[in-house]
Amino acid sequence: MSTRIKILPENLTNKISAGEVVERPASVVKELVENCIDAGASEIVVEIESGGKRLIKVSDNGCGMSREDALLALERHATSKISSDDDLGFISTLGFRGEALPSIASVSRWVLATREQGCIEGTEIYGEGGRIRDVKARGMAEGTIIEVRNLFFNTPARLKFLKSNETEAGHVGDQLTRLALSRPDVRFTYVNDGRTVFRALNGALEDRVAALLGRSISAGLYPLECTGEELSLKGLAGKPDSNRSSSSHLYTFVNGRFVRDRLIQHAIMQSYRQLLERGRYPVAILFLNTPVEDVDVNVHPTKHEVRFRNQSLVHDFIASALEKHLGSTPWMAKPAIKAVSYSHAEQGLTAESSAISVKETPFVYDTFGDVRVAEQVGLPVDVPSKFAPQAVEEAKPLETEGFFSSLRVIGQYLGAYLICQGGDDLLIIDQHAAHERVAFERLRMDFSAGEVESQGVLFPEVVEFTHGEASVVDAHMPMLRKLGFHLDDFGGTAKVLNAVPRILASGPYMQALRDIIEEVASFGKSRTLDVLQEDLLVRIACHSVIRGRSSLSGNEINALLASLDSVPFASNCPHGRPVYRTITRPDVEKMFKRL
Ligand code: ADP
Ligand code: MG
Repeated sequence: MSTRIKILPENLTNKISAGEVVERPASVVKELVENCIDAGASEIVVEIESGGKRLIKVSDNGCGMSREDALLALERHATSKISSDDDLGFISTLGFRGEALPSIASVSRWVLATREQGCIEGTEIYGEGGRIRDVKARGMAEGTIIEVRNLFFNTPARLKFLKSNETEAGHVGDQLTRLALSRPDVRFTYVNDGRTVFRALNGALEDRVAALLGRSISAGLYPLECTGEELSLKGLAGKPDSNRSSSSHLYTFVNGRFVRDRLIQHAIMQSYRQLLERGRYPVAILFLNTPVEDVDVNVHPTKHEVRFRNQSLVHDFIASALEKHLGSTPWMAKPAIKAVSYSHAEQGLTAESSAISVKETPFVYDTFGDVRVAEQVGLPVDVPSKFAPQAVEEAKPLETEGFFSSLRVIGQYLGAYLICQGGDDLLIIDQHAAHERVAFERLRMDFSAGEVESQGVLFPEVVEFTHGEASVVDAHMPMLRKLGFHLDDFGGTAKVLNAVPRILASGPYMQALRDIIEEVASFGKSRTLDVLQEDLLVRIACHSVIRGRSSLSGNEINALLASLDSVPFASNCPHGRPVYRTITRPDVEKMFKRL
C-alpha cells in the first residue's frame, strides 16, 4: 500500500526554517489544530485539563491516516504536504515541515488514533517520550484524535518554564480564537477542565466574531471586500471609537494563516492614522489573499511572519482598500440618525405654522426661552423676534441632506464647543477639531487635483535657512509649491517667500513653513511620500485653525456643520481626536436617575 506521507530528503530539510515549535500547551494546540484544518476537517474539538499540562486532546473529522501513514507521521521531516524543493515556493497548507508530531511526541505521553476516510477501522498508537509502545486496531469515526498527556514530563527545565494553569489556558484560548477566526466555515469547540469555553458553529465571519470576541466588539465592525488583480482583502474593520491600547485585536491572516506582520500592521495603522490618537489601535479581522508563490511562509518556525515578493504592492493595496472602506462606512461619514429636513416648502407649511417650526431650526437658540441667548452666540442682530417669518428666511439652514446640518444647535459652550441635538441625542462638537478636519479635507482635495490654493504675501519675506534646511528646501521645491509655499533663491542659504497657502495667509504661515521643513528633513524610510505629504497637509490645516475661544455667528455655525457633511472622515480630526461626542437620551435619563 502506498503512503501519502514521505520523509523529506536532507537537502530539502536544510532549507526549511527549523526551530522548536513546542514551547507551551498553546503551541501544541496550534500545531495539532493546523493539522486538522489541513486534513480538511469541518469540525474540531479541543479539550484541555490543568492549563494543558495534564491533557491536550484534539479531535477532528478530517481525512484521517492509514496505519502506515500514522506511523510515518511520527518520524522527523515526514509530511504529506510537500515533497520537493519546488513545492517550497507554492505552499497552500498551514504545515509543511513535518516536525510537529515528532516534536510533541518526544516530550509527552501520547495517543494518536486515526481512521482514514473509507477505511473500515482505525489505528491507535500509544507512545511515550518519542518511543512507540503499542499499535493496535481501534473502532472509531473517520478522522483523527490526538491526546497529549503530561507535556514536558521528561524535560523538567521546560516544565518549570510553564506558568499557572490559568495563564496557560488563557494562551490556549487566544491561540484557538485566532484559529477559529481564520475558518468560520469550520465548527470549533473548546473545553477547559470540563467546562465548554466556546462552541462556534460554522457560519458567517460576523457570527464567529460575536461568538469569540463578544457582541460588543462585533457590533462595532463593518464588512469590507476589495478584490484587485492578484490580491484581495476582505473581513471586518472596526469603528475608531472601539479602539484598543495594543494591537491585540488586529487579527490578520494571509492565505488563511494568522500572521503578525509589521508591513500589514503598518498599512492598517496608516489607514486609521487620522481617526485614532497616537498609541491606539483599531479592531480588525482581515484576510489577505495572494497567489501562494508571492508569499514566503518559510521565514520563521512558527510561521507568524511572512515575506511578500512585492512588499510595497501589498502595503499599498491594503492601505488603499481600507481607506476607501473607512470613507464609506456609515459610522464614519454620518452616524445613523435620521436626518431632519427643515425645508418649510417641502413640509407644506404656511407662514403661520412655520412660526412654530422656527423652533426646530438650528438657528434659533431659544432653549432657555430667551432670545438673548441667541444674540450672545452671534445670531444676526436684526432678527426682530424668534417667531418672525423673516427670521425663518434668515435662519434657514443650507438644504443639505447631511447629518450635521440636520442637528438642532442649542448653543455654544466655552467658545469652543457646539451643543446640539440630533434625534433624541445630545451632541457636543469640538469646533477646533471640526475646523481642522474640514480644512484638511479641502487641502487634500486641492493637493491631489494640482496644488493647494496660494496667496501672494504683501511684503515678500526673506527667510534664512541653515545649510541643512536649505538643501531640504532645494530638494523639495516642487512639493513645497504644491503645498502652496512659493519660495525663490535669495543668495546663499536664504530664500524669499512670495506666496503661502491661502488658508494660512492671515495665520502663522512662517511657523507652518518651519514645521514643514523640519518634518521633510526627518522624513525617513518609515514613511512613504504619500504619507509625508498628508502629514504636511495636516500641519497646514492645524496652523490654519484659530486657537482659543472664538464665538461663532449662527451663519458660521451653519457653514461649519454643512462643511462637515461635505467631507469624509468627519467624525475625527486629522490627528485622530473625535470631532463630536454623543450623549444619548438614556445616558441623560440615567444621570438623573429616571432610568
Ligand atoms: P506537517 O503538518 O508539517 O506536514 P506534522 O508533523 O504536523 O507535519 O504532521 C505530519 C503529517 O501527519 C502531515 O503531513 C499529515 O499528513 C499527517 N497528519 C497530522 N495530523 C493529521 C490529522 N489531524 N489528520 C490527518 N493527517 C494528519
Ligand atoms: Mg503540522
